[in-house]
Amino acid sequence: MSLTPGIRVRVQHPRYGRHYGAVVERVADPLQPPAHRVMIEGGFINAWNCLDEWLTPVPPGFRDMVIGDLLNLDMLKAAIEVEFLGSLWTEGDCGMLTPYVCEASFGDGFHLLTISTINQRPNYHVVRACSSWRESGKRWYHTYRDDTIGEHIDDVLTAIEEECGPRYFIDEDCDTCEPGGYECRCGDGQPWPAIEADGGCSWGHIRWDWLMKQLGIAEQLDRIAA
Ligand SMILES: [Zn+2]
Repeated sequence: MSLTPGIRVRVQHPRYGRHYGAVVERVADPLQPPAHRVMIEGGFINAWNCLDEWLTPVPPGFRDMVIGDLLNLDMLKAAIEVEFLGSLWTEGDCGMLTPYVCEASFGDGFHLLTISTINQRPNYHVVRACSSWRESGKRWYHTYRDDTIGEHIDDVLTAIEEECGPRYFIDEDCDTCEPGGYECRCGDGQPWPAIEADGGCSWGHIRWDWLMKQLGIAEQLDRIAA
């Protein structure tokens, strides 16, 4: 491969994962294995020193597959937004609930995160989150990445609220509301999928094998392999 300055490369970095960038120059050090400096795409200020064995030239515009290439939003909605019988606190809260798949996505979108708020569980929103987000931080992991779902969950809730609206908000026109700029909770609030995120939430994830089964893709794959 010829790593001439300016060509675009995929960088498979042993610590920082896969990135794309442009070759800047050869690192001239006869004592080290062959290496190049690469300007990484995506807001990195300094070029990285990369061993040649990490680098693969790629055409301009080439990128990794993203979730939308595999499953579009409509397919996800068809598989996941299926009514189920759920109950919240009391028998009176029993009813048919339908999860909601958000358009919002983070990173590669391969982690299908389910978010249940305290007051809306067991119903849930689904957000396509980044597969690099870890469930929890681990000491050894913190040596180079500090990227847990817990750290991102506020951003996820904000994204859901922007997309679906808040269940409760300050209603200046409400006659029975206490004065003082509190959210109006006189009625049932905005209908689902409006989110009530104030009380906190729990999260889980949708398994890909389950999803594939829902979509019948597993069967199709079996047929192709047969
Ligand atoms: Zn009110």
